[in-house]
Amino acid sequence: ALQTIAGFDRIGEENAFAVLARATKLAAEGRDIINLGIGQPDFQTPPHIVEAAIKALRDGHHGYTPATGILPLREAVCADLAKRTGHSPNPDNVLIVPGGKVTMFMAILMFGEPGAEILYPDPGFPIYRSMIEFTGATPVPVPIREENGFAFSADETLSLITSKTRLLILNSPANPTGGVTPKAEIEKLVKGLEAFPDVAIMSDEIYAQMTYDGMEHVSLLGFESIRDRLILLDGWSKTYAMTGWRMGYSVWPDALIDKARKLAVNCWSCVNAPAQYAGLAALTGPQDAVRDMVAEFDRRRKVVVDGLNALPGVTCRTPLGAFYAFPNIKDTGWKAKALASALLEETGVATIGGPDFGILGEGYIRLSYANSTENIQRALTRMGEFLSTRR
Ligand code: PLP
Repeated sequence: ALQTIAGFDRIGEENAFAVLARATKLAAEGRDIINLGIGQPDFQTPPHIVEAAIKALRDGHHGYTPATGILPLREAVCADLAKRTGHSPNPDNVLIVPGGKVTMFMAILMFGEPGAEILYPDPGFPIYRSMIEFTGATPVPVPIREENGFAFSADETLSLITSKTRLLILNSPANPTGGVTPKAEIEKLVKGLEAFPDVAIMSDEIYAQMTYDGMEHVSLLGFESIRDRLILLDGWSKTYAMTGWRMGYSVWPDALIDKARKLAVNCWSCVNAPAQYAGLAALTGPQDAVRDMVAEFDRRRKVVVDGLNALPGVTCRTPLGAFYAFPNIKDTGWKAKALASALLEETGVATIGGPDFGILGEGYIRLSYANSTENIQRALTRMGEFLSTRR
């Protein structure tokens, strides 16, 4: 038999893709499926961005670009970050990657090995834990608690750091909870991290521009004291409705950028050229599409939260960021994954069971409200009928 490395006995995946495949199959069989499972905007990429990619193809941008990405794009990333975080990185520290996810892959590969500990949010994006396990490092979950508004607790996070900790992964606004960590808590965390100069930090800020109710997104890039060990993960997928373009970027500190560049050269050489021109148009062009999309998510957020709180046995905190609701379903009597599966099979509503995001996800399900208000309302009606008869 073929003998691959032991990491493949431990690697996980994203169940959202399995749910998407099942929902697509049921829809193909003629079922009326409402997909609140997969986390992607239901909007199209704004037309001026699409046109920029077409123009790049017509203009002959068919070849390799520098491995780190075209310079105007890296400069545009820095200008955008300067506007949003108050700090402009050097374009030499920016790496354009084929999707935001790739940054976590690289960062975890850089620091994960047997004996190393990596801290990651639980519940959180499932790939963090999967990749940590793949490298043989010890995954150390940082609890993200409902009673704490699904924010990070600085004290609890710091208390989990040991002499073996190599990397701390942060994510705010967060998937799957929609939690946003308040400024004071981030400041406290950063202050505490100053005592651990050997711990690298990867801040996943892919939902940075999706916050509500006046909640401010606080980028870790704004803190000078940790910048020499901060990896910033962001990209185009969510902000510009570009999940299928596979475009992301990261900012790496001086000590790591060359290692990241080498990984890129060893793996994908460069991100596809026309997509990079589309990314440039996204950052330098009008931002109204982003504002409109976030305003629409905000309206749907209220519909989904009110609707969920009206369901028997369900309570839902108002998420302050991203486009997910993470209702507590403990009083329905259902286990989360069984409920998600029954909802899909019996009512045609796709959601994701909380345990797909970590140990602390039991008792919750995730709904993405990146779907039309009408569909959200129809889904809530079906869920209500289901829960009142099947408790
Ligand atoms: N980080 C988080 C927290 C996410 O939820 C996602 C996508 O679901 C990503 C990163 C990856 O985004 P991309 O599609 O750009 O790889």
